[in-house]
Amino acid sequence: MKRQVALFGGQVEHSLSPAMQTAAFQELGLDWSYRARAVTAQDLAGSVSQLRQPRWAGANITVPHKERVIKLLDSLDPDAARMGAVNTILTRGSQLHGSNTDGQGLVLDLKRRGVPLRGRPVIILGAGGAARAAAWGLADAGAVLTMVARTPSRAQRWIPGLAEQSGQRIEILAWSDHSFAKARAGSLVVNATPVGMWPRSPACPWPATVALPEAGMVYDLIYRPRPTELVARAREAGLDACGGLGMLVEQGALALELWTGLGAPRLAMRAAAERALEVDLAQLPDRR
Ligand code: NAP
Repeated sequence: MKRQVALFGGQVEHSLSPAMQTAAFQELGLDWSYRARAVTAQDLAGSVSQLRQPRWAGANITVPHKERVIKLLDSLDPDAARMGAVNTILTRGSQLHGSNTDGQGLVLDLKRRGVPLRGRPVIILGAGGAARAAAWGLADAGAVLTMVARTPSRAQRWIPGLAEQSGQRIEILAWSDHSFAKARAGSLVVNATPVGMWPRSPACPWPATVALPEAGMVYDLIYRPRPTELVARAREAGLDACGGLGMLVEQGALALELWTGLGAPRLAMRAAAERALEVDLAQLPDRR
């Protein structure tokens, strides 16, 4: 039976996942399909319930449904439960199981780049779903976290649980130049806000008046435009810096392994994602 995987999200027309997962199925010799579908909050329950039919292997869930999808599922793995968000659904018989591969995807991409994480001071910008996934993944890898958030109360909702589980004191700083100056002691900056993302680019989440950490690294979860203002500024300052395409590939590879039970063909997935991004970037109004 030809099996299907869906991507449900609010805006999916620029998603790279269909190209990346289709390339993976081809590489693995699987006659499977992966289709992105724009789904409203009202349509989500109906779309998710279709996944209980045997032809479905599962789905990816993206913004803005990662949290609200949880109540529609039968079970969650521990990562998804503690992150309070699901980006991957696995159809098991007629049951739906939720996972979250975002945090692990970030950590795998950093490891692939040879970035040491154990004991490393890391500054995470933002307190939303991606920041939360990144924080759990990085804390599991032994990093020492500081959060800088525009709405610190949002981080306060989940940081105490993470601090307790990881056994570290996690500082939450309000979004101000003073906080960025204080956070400079960190040596890996992870941008988990949408600041700088097309079509609102150019903008940089790190204030112009504060120097970036010396001898640090910048990881911007945003991969469109390429480079982002933050990545360009970090490179100008002589820092190692990258966008979030590698994280996208790794979280997709982990999801594929859950659906198929097979090792993900990461090279083919990365190449397909790169190609799809280049095509997409060439069509953007400012061609960045
Ligand atoms: P989200 O849940 O909406 O959270 C966004 C966070 O950014 C919130 O903390 C928000 O603060 C903050 N923020 C928004 N605008 C800001 C501004 N102008 N100044 C300061 N803080 C601001 O979004 P998300 O799902 O976490 O996604 C965040 C980014 O990560 C997006 O660009 C997304 O594309 C990217 N992402 C990439 C990957 C990947 O695989 N590479 C995976 C997931 C997400 P408030 O609470 O005050 O609004």
